[in-house]
Amino acid sequence: MKLISNFLSSKYSQFAAACAATSILAFVVIARAQDAPAQQTHGIAVANMDHAVKPGDDFYHYTNGEWIKRTEIPADRGGVGVFSVLDDLSNKRTAGLIEEIAKSNPAPGSGARKVADLYNSYMSEAAIEQKGLAPLRPHLEAIAAIHDKRELAHALGETLRADVDALNNTNFHTANLFGLWVAPGFNDSDHYAAYLLQGGLQMPDREYYLSDSEHMRKLRTQYQAHVAAILKLAGFSDTDARATRIVELEHAIAQTHRSLEDNEDIHKANNTWSQADFTTKAPGLDWAEYFRGAGINQQDNFIVWQPEAFKGESALVASAALDTWKDWLAFHLVEAYAGVLPKAFVDERFSFFGKALSGTPQLRPRWQRGVFIVDAQLGDAVGQIYAQRYFSPEAKAQVQSMVENLIAAFRKRIDALAWMDPATKAEAQAKLTTLYVGVGYPETWHDYSSFEVKADDAFGNIWRGNFSDYHREVARLGKPVDRHEWSMTPQTVNAVNLPLQNALNFPAAILQPPFFDPQAPAAVNYGAIGSVIGHEISHTFDTEGSTFDSKGRVRNWWTAADLAHFEASTAQLAAQYDTYKPFPDLSVNGKQTLAENIADVAGISAAYDGYRASLAGKPAPVQDGFSGDQQFFIAFGQNWGSKTREAALRQQVQTDPHAPAEFRDATVRNIDAWYAAFNVQPGEKLYLAPPDRVRIW
Ligand SMILES: [Zn+2]
Repeated sequence: MKLISNFLSSKYSQFAAACAATSILAFVVIARAQDAPAQQTHGIAVANMDHAVKPGDDFYHYTNGEWIKRTEIPADRGGVGVFSVLDDLSNKRTAGLIEEIAKSNPAPGSGARKVADLYNSYMSEAAIEQKGLAPLRPHLEAIAAIHDKRELAHALGETLRADVDALNNTNFHTANLFGLWVAPGFNDSDHYAAYLLQGGLQMPDREYYLSDSEHMRKLRTQYQAHVAAILKLAGFSDTDARATRIVELEHAIAQTHRSLEDNEDIHKANNTWSQADFTTKAPGLDWAEYFRGAGINQQDNFIVWQPEAFKGESALVASAALDTWKDWLAFHLVEAYAGVLPKAFVDERFSFFGKALSGTPQLRPRWQRGVFIVDAQLGDAVGQIYAQRYFSPEAKAQVQSMVENLIAAFRKRIDALAWMDPATKAEAQAKLTTLYVGVGYPETWHDYSSFEVKADDAFGNIWRGNFSDYHREVARLGKPVDRHEWSMTPQTVNAVNLPLQNALNFPAAILQPPFFDPQAPAAVNYGAIGSVIGHEISHTFDTEGSTFDSKGRVRNWWTAADLAHFEASTAQLAAQYDTYKPFPDLSVNGKQTLAENIADVAGISAAYDGYRASLAGKPAPVQDGFSGDQQFFIAFGQNWGSKTREAALRQQVQTDPHAPAEFRDATVRNIDAWYAAFNVQPGEKLYLAPPDRVRIW
């Protein structure tokens, strides 16, 4: 799972290829005019703190209050924060690299040439306007020519893409009927397996269709108008009636969908179906034709993540009218490619997904969206150059030594646990031994040789890019797993735990100030990036990690007693988060965010140990009047400084496995050393009596 979500800069506010790139999760926050803040001091940002706030009352505003007061959310964003400031830097650098490449006339066929042609094709707005609907037409005609449900099944199969990711980048959303994720098998982690996930909705989650709240009902009305508007732009007649039927169909699809909370339960997801099983277990759709359309009819077995959704959606293919499905297909096609169609499509899509759904008033400049597209389609080609230029071998070595200290801290914590069975401890230690920690950049890079990029064909480039990505994933099915493979590019400001590979990735772009500064005090580096590293390592043992063994196999390596203790402790943490209310009518869902909240508690605990160990008995240097322990916790708190628009924050609370930043910051209240560092007393708002502080590791 990722360290943070993509909602600070909601993906819906930028680019439209919803059924497209797997890396659509990536942040796109670029500020061309504004340089990243110069790193003037090496340590905590004292100027960002609000000293009028008592740390024990509100640690989030104590550590970030002044920054929050002076920061405004740019008009083209759903939010802004420490992560997005670093994103600005990373994207500015990436943009610089891409523009440099685009001007350099690289050799035909080279990766650099593809980068140049893709970027230039997207920037050729006049050419895109001039082509109008022409790139769409053959695809719309193919949909119009569908005569029966058998041909429909084939066409639905043709939309399958590798655009979901259940465990690594945690993206459960595809607007296509279903989504494919190729990853090490649950039951044979030495080989790549085919996971199929529910899909079919344009809005982010079933709740958008089913929730009774006034906010959601209003969004649905706006959505239906948007569907009609898109169809009208694409030349359809009777657009209101068609839109009504499309939204009704999506509503029916939403009713079959599993909730986000249930999606995260691995045990409910481990369902192996043969191709023949689909027909008996999920009748309705002509499955043989679907798999032929998808080009995976040779694949014998699939892991079906949400069997009830496959049953329900398949039945809807049989029961809903052919014409409704054809309209749904056409609408989804146009929506997916709106970003590379004329401006009227871009604006209409943004008016719903950017403004209404995320509350972002203004679309990003075109060049920023162009950088995002290149990053999404050719991320490794850019990342290879990025890593060479921006991540030194010295920085890599220093982070690797922090990782070693963090792992040593976890080893000690595991050994010291009184409640854990010795056999369970042994497997936990084995997981630490086989853990692969990738720092900065991958050891091998994606091969884009089969992706044909043309300098004058923006639509075709995205179309072929998505296909090439899909074919690369399909080609891996059944092959041996490369445990050192990465699932993030070096230019991504994030970190990730890959449970089926027992591996972690810390991309170069997050290993920079304020997270990591080679010249900052150890207290600050451990509080900032150390807690991030600890967060990711702890996923190895959390609600997900406890179901994967040291080889990445799905195997419960815990005893019943271990599990009982773990569940009791984690229930306490879920209840703690249930009490947080970002809005009077909306609470954080403690269960939905549990795995990430556990990781935060564990991450800061282990980082604190690693920091103390790094002092080797010497006193910690005082800086800016703060003790070492105070600097450690303030640095942690400053990881989470952010401002988010109401609509985007509501979307996050509703659909994201991560709690809002403010409440992640507040998790310091579970750590004893925090009470001592700031002399926090009963009666202060964050104060928890010792038995109420959640200790999991
Ligand atoms: Zn996480």
